[in-house]
Amino acid sequence: MEKIKIIRATALKEKPKDESALVFGKSFTDYMFTMEFSSAKGWHSPTIKPYAPLSIDPANLTLHYGQSLFEGMKAYRDAEGGVRLFRPADNFARMSIGAQRLAMVPLDEEMALAGLKALLEIEKDWIPRSPGTSLYIRPTMMAMDAFLGVHASDSYLFFIILSPVAAYYKEGLKPVKIYVEDEYVRAARGGIGYTKAAANYVASMLAGSQAEKRGYSQVLWLDAVERKYIEEVGAMNIFFVIGGKLVTPPLRGSILAGITRNSVIQLAKAKGLEVEERPISIDEVFEAAQSGAMSEAFGSGTAAVISPVGHFSWKGEEVAVNGGKMGKIAQDLYDSLTAIQYGRAADPFGWSIKL
Ligand SMILES: *Cc1c(COP(=O)(O)O)cnc(C)c1O
Repeated sequence: MEKIKIIRATALKEKPKDESALVFGKSFTDYMFTMEFSSAKGWHSPTIKPYAPLSIDPANLTLHYGQSLFEGMKAYRDAEGGVRLFRPADNFARMSIGAQRLAMVPLDEEMALAGLKALLEIEKDWIPRSPGTSLYIRPTMMAMDAFLGVHASDSYLFFIILSPVAAYYKEGLKPVKIYVEDEYVRAARGGIGYTKAAANYVASMLAGSQAEKRGYSQVLWLDAVERKYIEEVGAMNIFFVIGGKLVTPPLRGSILAGITRNSVIQLAKAKGLEVEERPISIDEVFEAAQSGAMSEAFGSGTAAVISPVGHFSWKGEEVAVNGGKMGKIAQDLYDSLTAIQYGRAADPFGWSIKL
């Protein structure tokens, strides 16, 4: 593997003083990791250098045709002051799968992970120390050809930037209100819904801001064909507890294969819960919530880990889950997963990687 070049900054930024005041994704650390791809050289020039704007050609293919893909993960500080990652190889593997669908080149996953670890080694003082805080990691891959033809790029840039984040929950897990979208769709099977392509997020923005204006914090997407089956929420997968079983929609190409989703499934099974990956209709969700058969609903994703749902609104009708209160299973899964992420509990799965 090519040696990572390190270019030192002449001056460093001031670290945040108030860790509870950090706003997600607004402040960034001193350094970034970059590597480039060309068809002649493959992935090359892994470099850690001062965080700075990129210079791109106005004809850059990413700007015009959206050949752009990202990942989201976190570095956690454990009780001994050590640095931990959670299943990082899975994030880079997912990025390679997405790259293939977007007609990009596969990521050099080994170099990406080595770059991330080297970057964190330099930036570890940026990982906040207060309970629940972390350092958000944003790997990104974009086309670099300056060419207006609708054609896959021959050159790419991969970079990783880091952003310290406050605890997602400051006073315990809080159930959210979810708007079930019945006009717009996010992704259809056969499309790019299973990738973290930039384009999927612009497809969801209008519905997201309309839901916010109506007082809902997130949108729940229905399938693109029948507008009947549950897909996922914003940047989270969704789970229901129905008749004591944990139920979640199957991975059929239109939703993201969340690493938190997979971890929840494995952890729940290890706790003796029955887990079903199967299509769930919005009618079933409403009926089960109304009859009380549904005792819990929650989202899963890197940002919140577990986000309990208190209410769903669909076509002007609102239904509460468990009287709008959080359930025991959501709390238990949250406690178990975060304990593994921060190195507070034994990790029989081998998910938590100490730097
Ligand atoms: C990132 C994301 C998720 C959650 O994935 P994790 O790997 O658990 O963070 C779910 N859905 C969408 C659309 C996402 O972008």
